[in-house]
Amino acid sequence: MDIRLLDNITLKTALQATPHKACSCAVGGCEAWESVPDERFPKTQMTHIGTLRDPDIYEPTFEQHHPDGTNYDSPDAPISAKHFPYNRCDAFSCKTCQRVLLTYTEYGGYYVDPRVRWAQIEMMKSIKP
Ligand SMILES: [Zn+2]
Repeated sequence: MDIRLLDNITLKTALQATPHKACSCAVGGCEAWESVPDERFPKTQMTHIGTLRDPDIYEPTFEQHHPDGTNYDSPDAPISAKHFPYNRCDAFSCKTCQRVLLTYTEYGGYYVDPRVRWAQIEMMKSIKP
């Protein structure tokens, strides 16, 4: 089965359907990007709802989207499907709290670092399709 490709419109739609509920799952708050080792990511309570990585793009851009002076790890950094690191993320929905979580793996010289951010609809307000 193909994994559903999400863009700004479909991701926004997915986020609109989710209530704002505090999560008590092992992932934690993740309002900004956080390193979450695989063993802390509760896969069994997650539904893979899609990917933001366009299979037709060989190397997604590393350009980031910060029109209001935010940084990569700002809790209020906008979520733009076409920009780094969102353009290489998978989206999961937590069965316990209904939050949508974005995940990708940061590759360093000697490490791999899985990261997670809670996708909140507020972070997509300024995003145009
Ligand atoms: Zn949860």
